[in-house]
Formats: sequence, C-alpha cells, structure tokens
Amino acid sequence: MRQFTYLTPKTLDEAISLHVAHGESARYVAGGTDVLVKIKEGKFAPDYLISLKHIIGQDRPFLNQETGELYIGAFCTHGSIEQSPLVQHHYPIIHDAVKNIGSVQIRNVATIGGNLVNAVPSADGAIPLIVLDSKANIYGTKGQRSVDLQRFFLGPGQCDLEAGEILTEIVIPPPLPRTGSAYIKHGRREAMELPMLGVGVLLCLEEDMTTCAKARICLGVAAPTPFRALAAEKYLKGKTVDENNLTEAGRLAGQESKVRDSIRGVAWYRREMVGVLVKRMGLKALERAKERHK
Ligand SMILES: Cc1cc2nc3c(=O)[nH]c(=O)nc-3n(C[C@H](O)[C@H](O)[C@H](O)COP(=O)(O)OP(=O)(O)OC[C@H]3O[C@@H](n4cnc5c(N)ncnc54)[C@H](O)[C@@H]3O)c2cc1C
Repeated sequence: MRQFTYLTPKTLDEAISLHVAHGESARYVAGGTDVLVKIKEGKFAPDYLISLKHIIGQDRPFLNQETGELYIGAFCTHGSIEQSPLVQHHYPIIHDAVKNIGSVQIRNVATIGGNLVNAVPSADGAIPLIVLDSKANIYGTKGQRSVDLQRFFLGPGQCDLEAGEILTEIVIPPPLPRTGSAYIKHGRREAMELPMLGVGVLLCLEEDMTTCAKARICLGVAAPTPFRALAAEKYLKGKTVDENNLTEAGRLAGQESKVRDSIRGVAWYRREMVGVLVKRMGLKALERAKERHK
C-alpha cells in the first residue's frame, strides 16, 4: 500500500491549516472506511492523511435545549448514532438507516460525515436526514456556513464543499407533532451490502390524524444524487393517508425517479420497487405517527 504521513490535529482550525499547507497532496480521513479502500485501489494517492477523529466534540448526537434541534456531529460513528436514545426515540427513521450500514465493525468506525461527503447515490445516511429537512454546517478558512442537506449533493462523489472545508455537523429540526417517518434499505440479501434502493418517507398529519399536512419522500440509488420525489409529495398533501393514495404516490415516485440498470439491479425492477417501498414506508410512517400521538 502507498505510504503517507498521518496527521492528528486536535482542533478544526488546526486541521484546516494543515490542509491549506499541504493542498492537493492532503486528504481528510474520519473512519477511513472509504478513503483507505480508495487508496488501496489506487483511486486516491495522498501524501498526507489529516485525521478528523482526534478533534474534540462533534462525536455524539445532542439536543439543543433552546431550539429543540438535534445536532449530529459529523464525526459521530454510525454506531454511536444507532445507540443514541435521542435518535431511537425522536427520529426512528435515522435509526432505521444507520443500524443497517455495513457491519458492527464498520459502524464502530465509519462516520456520518464521511458517509455524506463521500456523496455516493447509495449513501444510506443521506436519505433520512433529507426527509427530516436537515441542514449541514460547514467550516473552512472563510468561517462557518450552513446549507440545506438536499442541496449538498451535486453529483456522484461530488458535494458542496470547497477545498479544505470540513462538514462539522448536521442540524435536524425538532420533530413536528402528529408526524411519523421510516426508511428502508432494499437489497438482494440481508447481509452486508450497499442498497439497490433506499426509500425514506415522512408524513405529517392534520389534527384529524388521517389527512396529510406534509409529505417528504426521498430516494437513494434512484438518481445520481439523493432524489426528492416532489410530484408524489405534492399528490399526498391534503389527501387521506390510506393504501390507495400511498399506492398512487409510490407510482408517481417511480415514474419521476431516474433509476438505471446497474450491477445491483435493473431499472424496471427498481422503478417497480420504488412504488412498493414508498407505500410500505408510508404505512409505517402513518403507524408511527399514530403511536406517537397516543
Ligand atoms: C465493508 C463496507 C460496507 C459498507 N456498507 C455501507 C452501507 O451499507 N451503507 C453505506 O451508506 N455505506 C457503506 N459503506 C461505505 C462507508 O462505510 C460509509 O460511507 C462511511 O460512513 C464513510 O465514513 P468514514 O468516516 O469511514 O469516511 P472516510 O473514509 O474517512 O472519508 C470519506 C470521504 O469523506 C471525506 N471526509 C470524511 N469526513 C469528512 C468531514 N467531516 N468533512 C469533510 N470531509 C470529510 C474524506 O476525505 C473522504 O473523501 C461501506 C463500506 C465498507 C468498506
């Protein structure tokens, strides 16, 4: 394997200074589950790996008591998010996703930040966070900025980060009342593999607990970037949430998705499964909304 120097800054500013000093010969590394594979495959050839894992903070989800927002630090491992009672109780859709990423060993080192910055269409972490209208906080030489997570993804392997910028945290709005959400990773087998499709659905209900006030449907591996099925969301708004309307929303989502043939599945099957899984996740979201409202 190629030799590189491993640097261990203790602060964000120190990490950014190192990146500025070493320019294109440097790359950030968090859990290393993507970076090291790419170095082995010869896709990356950095002289310096700047570790983000030694920076204090940003490694546990926490609730902002003033705003009610959940902050998930970019250096949180999938395992620490999976085990967070805050996530399990208030944002089960995130738990749905992280509990199935890779294996226990992968989840113990791989971070949510690495998952998002990697920006592959199959990133399981991205879909629930987009469904929840999350924002990404980013820090660099020009200071801090914030972007809507759904605008963060620019193309396969490309995201809205300038050279040297660090994704520091994900900010998730407080859960809305009468709301439920659910995510499913669909693949050929239960064991460790990347998804053939990822489907996340959020439904917020009116006070009658049957009419849809707001819907969010986001699909992974259905387009070059995580994809909001806007026509399906619009269709559901104001309608009764039932099997018929969720079937139609699923059909619309399949129609507007940009699925393609790949080694993990053919386009027609993926399109069909978008319909099936949007309906299934819609029903699960409805059930969760009702449970929370009891
Ligand atoms: C066996 C195996 C199974 C896997 N299974 C899944 C799966 O089921 N679902 C899935 O979605 N993924 C899966 N992955 C992919 C990978 O584990 C995840 O994407 C993981 O979350 C990446 O996080 P990391 O901390 O290891 O990233 P790293 O490898 O450390 O970094 C990834 C990229 O992000 C950059 N980076 C990392 N953190 C930051 C930051 N905070 N700011 C700026 N840049 C940053 C790095 O420079 C690099 O370009 C799997 C990988 C393996 C090896």
